[in-house]
Amino acid sequence: MATENEYGATNYKPLDVVLSRGEGVWVWDVEGNRYLDCLSGYSAVNQGHCHPKIREAMVEQSGKLTLTSRAFRNDQLAPFFEELCKLTRSHRVLPMNTGAEAVETAIKIVRKWGYTVKGVPQDKAEIIVFDKNFHGRTTTVVSFSTDETAREGFGPFTPGFKIIPFGDIKALEDAVTPNTVAVLMEPIQGEAGVIIPPPGYVKAARELCTREKIVFILDEIQTGLGRTGKLLAEEHEGVESDMTLLGKGLSGGFYPVSAVLSTSRIMGVLKPGEHGSTFGGNPLACAVARAALRVVTEEGMVENSAAMGAYFREGLKAINSHVVKEIRGRGLMMAIELHPDAGGARRYCAALKHRGILCKDTKEHTIRVSPPLIIKRAEVDQALVKFAAVLA
Ligand code: PLP
Repeated sequence: MATENEYGATNYKPLDVVLSRGEGVWVWDVEGNRYLDCLSGYSAVNQGHCHPKIREAMVEQSGKLTLTSRAFRNDQLAPFFEELCKLTRSHRVLPMNTGAEAVETAIKIVRKWGYTVKGVPQDKAEIIVFDKNFHGRTTTVVSFSTDETAREGFGPFTPGFKIIPFGDIKALEDAVTPNTVAVLMEPIQGEAGVIIPPPGYVKAARELCTREKIVFILDEIQTGLGRTGKLLAEEHEGVESDMTLLGKGLSGGFYPVSAVLSTSRIMGVLKPGEHGSTFGGNPLACAVARAALRVVTEEGMVENSAAMGAYFREGLKAINSHVVKEIRGRGLMMAIELHPDAGGARRYCAALKHRGILCKDTKEHTIRVSPPLIIKRAEVDQALVKFAAVLA
């Protein structure tokens, strides 16, 4: 820890636990202590740590071919595209690496679409985003963050974004102008503390975008691939976005893989040379992602997320605690919101760590609870005993 503190950049303040091994829902520190991982690498490790089938795909592919760049084709890319499109009912995929890159890519595509298809005057494209959004850390993405810590000192910022309240359909209607090219939304705001919009809101936003000829982008980098108890969170409202962003769990935590999914009509605005990435779509990434997607469906992780999420929340609600204000969530994307006078979420996360549960505070008063989607009832029961001891 001292060496990390001495040589590392100072942009993180981790809990003091040094992990060296992971398997399924469990991780171990260098002293051999075992913890239940209730963060899952911010939902990148949905399939559980070191899933043997993803690992096998990674090891096998790493001995064959790892990187070609997109200057050439590789034999893993086409099946990855096809399998991902069929699973998510999309037409086309643009592969990138990190979540923030997928968001940046989406912004470029919808701007181009606005100018070349919708007829928006050059450099006037507007994208509507939401208060308390989190879409990553790059300069353009923090340009429309409402978190001052994410922005302060990092300007000048990229223009072209309109920020409105989340969950208020009237505010969305009022924000639309003839230059609006896209609405960029997290179907459930993750980093904001698992904020679920009112029922019908995502659907109403979808319908508004259709009426006004606006691209409806859902950032499912955190909510996607089973985290909320559906393959995609959009399914909770029975809608389909025009563009979906995936990352994190797309590789099961083995390797950075992200993707922009969209229709041929929208994705088709990009011409060769206008966008790309050295690592995006490399054979190792594709092989890992193919295995990661396969195990989500073959091993019933979406259904388990729905069932165990409901069971876990019920158990958390049953804890008699005067510090808890609200338990909320969908599937295994859950949060415990504490009363403001409880002393802040971080000290509860530290106390949970001492009892063998790794959780992360998000915002000041919220404990995020998002274990791997393979968690079993007995493991939830064990966790609930520890949550009860800390919260009660
Ligand atoms: N979008 C959402 C909704 C996220 O939750 C995150 C990460 O937490 C990102 C984008 C950024 O992903 P990355 O950290 O891989 O750039």
